[in-house]
Amino acid sequence: MNILLMGPQGSGKGTLGNKIARDFGLVPVSTGDLFRQSIAKGEKLGLEAKTYMDKGLLVPIELTLGILADRLKQPDCQKGVMFDGFPRSIEQAEALKKITDIDHVILLDVPKETCIQRMIGRRVCSCCGAIFNVETYGSEDCDKCGGKLVQRDDDKLDAIKTRLEVYEKTTAPLIDFYADRVFVVKGQEDPEDTYRPVNDFLKGLKK
Ligand code: AMP
Repeated sequence: MNILLMGPQGSGKGTLGNKIARDFGLVPVSTGDLFRQSIAKGEKLGLEAKTYMDKGLLVPIELTLGILADRLKQPDCQKGVMFDGFPRSIEQAEALKKITDIDHVILLDVPKETCIQRMIGRRVCSCCGAIFNVETYGSEDCDKCGGKLVQRDDDKLDAIKTRLEVYEKTTAPLIDFYADRVFVVKGQEDPEDTYRPVNDFLKGLKK
């Protein structure tokens, strides 16, 4: 089973996705994470992608498909994938169809203002990648590894606005593209409340 997790940036896809992957034995594949790993390794592909990412723009499809296809070839992906951040356009969805199918789409419904607030407050540990929010976490150091917390370049206001515009214009049309397989869930303040209906839905599929 392959699942696509959809929702605007800052809607909480990462948190929800980790729970789904854990409980349903799926491999989380996030093109954003793949790019960030490539940047951290100083690879040419990552550094090229970064010029788009920092502005909040989509990375060109050839680079994105390349990094995704390499990941999907790895043996762990054969048991089922939870896609996060790919596809992000109809063009990408058509390209994915040639590699594999999406069985179900989980769409996280969160108001735009909430997404903006969450992204502005988001801080990431520069060592282990753990995510915090300044609203709920007072320290500038990671409580897991002691690393310094930093703000992602694309979590600055101008890039956030561009990312949300790109989502509306280019990614949201996928809701119609996958209309026969979309399950909508309202994002709640407590991640457990968001997860419960998704868990019920996915468990129901197994019966
Ligand atoms: P994310 O962490 O999913 O918000 O992704 C961070 C950035 O990586 C995005 O703003 C894009 O610049 C780039 N990116 C991630 N996934 C894709 C994709 N499917 N197509 C194009 N660019 C992507």
